[in-house]
Amino acid sequence: MIWNPTMECMTRDEMRKLQGIRLKRTVEHVYHNCEPYRRRMQEAGISPGDINGIDDIVKLPFTSKKDLRDFYPFELLSVPMSEIVRLQASSGTTGKPIVVGYTRKDLAIWGEVGARCFTAYGLGKQDVVQVAYGYGLFTGGLGAHCAVETIGGTVLPMSSGNTEKQIMLMHDFGSVGLACTPSYALFLADAMHDSGIPREEFKLRVGAFGAEPWTEAMRGELQNKLGIKAYDLYGLTEIIGPGVGHECALQNGTHLCEDHFLPEILDPVTSQPLEPGQTGELVFSTITKEGMPLLRFRTRDLTSLHYETCECGRTSVRMSRILGRCDDMLIIRGVNVFPSQVEAVVCEIPELEPHYFIVVDRINNLDTLEVQVEVKEAYYSDEISRMMNLRKHITHRLQSVLGISPDIKLVEPRSIERSQGKAKRVNDKRKFS
Ligand code: ADP
Ligand code: ZN
Repeated sequence: MIWNPTMECMTRDEMRKLQGIRLKRTVEHVYHNCEPYRRRMQEAGISPGDINGIDDIVKLPFTSKKDLRDFYPFELLSVPMSEIVRLQASSGTTGKPIVVGYTRKDLAIWGEVGARCFTAYGLGKQDVVQVAYGYGLFTGGLGAHCAVETIGGTVLPMSSGNTEKQIMLMHDFGSVGLACTPSYALFLADAMHDSGIPREEFKLRVGAFGAEPWTEAMRGELQNKLGIKAYDLYGLTEIIGPGVGHECALQNGTHLCEDHFLPEILDPVTSQPLEPGQTGELVFSTITKEGMPLLRFRTRDLTSLHYETCECGRTSVRMSRILGRCDDMLIIRGVNVFPSQVEAVVCEIPELEPHYFIVVDRINNLDTLEVQVEVKEAYYSDEISRMMNLRKHITHRLQSVLGISPDIKLVEPRSIERSQGKAKRVNDKRKFS
């Protein structure tokens, strides 16, 4: 099922035209109603009259996460506070959070794009969907919540945590969908198993997973462990929250709701546009939002865009899996390492649980990389030679993928901390030394 075939299946020409009209309208709106944007555009020597189609987007200034901090809390709003009906915020890493304000229309847009996602996952009116993303300022919980309500499904607003109760209600209420981070889904999978309730007594068949990077290998793990189809749900607070993009039944790329959020891929260093298919930094302009529209927002997420029509019938552009944020990239002894590369290897080794933790340090002026991995109960052994061989094997695999040799630490089953929200999988001690 497709929630909004008119918008999700239009031709490329129609889409570009619509995006052009909406972009122009948004530029006019922020120019007249948001002081920082007007100032930026004047400094760049452009006015709304210069924007007449999406190709003109390159004339517009960028917006960065730093801008959202600098204009904290409300300077980037393009409507009076009386029009704002909701505030959300993202934790950020340090200092002030990033605040986003929504008008009533913005919330309707959020519901609309969310409805497209959950419909694409095959969920509908008859389904109970358990939302185990955190509720509150974080957009995950309320975003998924509003999506499920929009399609007319039954929301079970669990928020994250309280794992035993999650399993009990998932069973008793017959949840068909589960929306949470992939790392929390892993935790829930173990809890489901531990509950002793036979799998066939659960109705769960669909996962809507996102808010953090996850790999194809992790999808395999989750689908096997939970016995479901696991779909990607992408979003970020600055743009709207979860619902910016979603996978379809083909699980072959994340469709973006590009009639609302116009994507570009740029070289993260030179800021020059890249060709479709090339990997770079994802940049969004919101082209329908009223409360806090953003022009050319630099997400720091690395991915590529693909414009071929999908077999599902949607023509909307698909992005490949997010490799990670530019900021997540570790440079270890001069080599670029993404945690997602480690994840892919860990998930592919049958003796290991899909949990890992990376510790980077600098000892005697040399970067060190330690990867902690959990050996499955069934393989964990007191026999030193067996464990040594396993360790050697993991070291080789990681070395061939990463290009540097890690120090592997085999730890006991269930000793790596489990996550209930966004997983923290890296401790880079160099940052503080
Ligand atoms: P914070 O910056 O505090 O984490 P958000 O909750 O808004 O704030 O997180 C948005 C970010 O989370 C995205 O920019 C991206 O890096 C990551 N993210 C969200 N969904 C996905 C997904 N499906 N796959 C990979 N990364 C994702
Ligand atoms: Zn598709």
